[in-house]
Amino acid sequence: MAKDKSKTLGRRAFLATTIGTALLADGLATSSAYAEESQQNKLVKASEKLEAKKTGLLFLGTGAADWPDNYPPIERELARGEVRGLSSMLVNGHILIDCGPTVLDAMKRYKVDFASITDLLLTHTHSDHFHQETLLAIADARDAKLEPLRLWAHPEALKLAPKSSRIEKCPVEIGATFRLHEFDITGLESNHLVKHTQEKCLYYLLEGATKTLLYATDGSWLLKKTWEYLQKKSVDVLIWDATIGEQAGDYRIFEHNDLAMIRHMNQTLKNRNIIKPDTKIILTHMARTLHPPHNQLEEKLLPEGLIPAYDGMSLVL
Ligand SMILES: [Zn+2]
Ligand SMILES: [Zn+2]
Repeated sequence: MAKDKSKTLGRRAFLATTIGTALLADGLATSSAYAEESQQNKLVKASEKLEAKKTGLLFLGTGAADWPDNYPPIERELARGEVRGLSSMLVNGHILIDCGPTVLDAMKRYKVDFASITDLLLTHTHSDHFHQETLLAIADARDAKLEPLRLWAHPEALKLAPKSSRIEKCPVEIGATFRLHEFDITGLESNHLVKHTQEKCLYYLLEGATKTLLYATDGSWLLKKTWEYLQKKSVDVLIWDATIGEQAGDYRIFEHNDLAMIRHMNQTLKNRNIIKPDTKIILTHMARTLHPPHNQLEEKLLPEGLIPAYDGMSLVL
């Protein structure tokens, strides 16, 4: 039985072979045909490069701290947004943002190989974002022959990291950009507080080859210096702390956003071209008690261009 070539060859080689065979069958295997073939190869290469530059996001938790800190058993089917884990997001399969106590279960449910996580970006050390056992489990899952898991965090937050030879502590200086895999990453200060410490809470700006994303939770409004830093940036994906819903007068507005605040900020960011009409604006870190069920959220918010995230939501940009 003839072997299926598509299974034994790489995609590029397979396409090149197919193109070459078609040209020969037409009796056109001339030098110009080879030139055409090499043109096709270039196109395939270009599309592969573009593919490699794409950014994949997977939301592993979209809830604020009032959601339970344990995730339902994997056998239980969940409707979209029925349960929210504590907030976390995975970028391109290897950069995890925050590791609260529900993250391991969410990774099992959404089939993430957590041994392939190389870097953890920590926003701050509140217990819904930072859970020592979870951090150790992720670090220990890495092949011992590979370099340790890098933990990126504010220097004061790093003091709380567990001691392990499988964790490399990497301080994040506010406003200083570092290179990580395919991204330039900058930690920006947020308006949020870990009481009784000197720790600064961080948003993360990730600038890839084709897309820029801002992960902005936890915090309310933008601090003036963060706003100034963003002036020359063009953000393709903006992920907001949306702890509070539509209720006015909630006491948490001094550390978390409500939806009116988010609308105000979006308008101003648009006016300054920091976000564009096609920027994806995503809401996460939603409180259990301050939002309606997810289907109602979608019905209300999608028409105005706000995307309420749900656990397991994935995007390829
Ligand atoms: Zn939080
Ligand atoms: Zn917090």
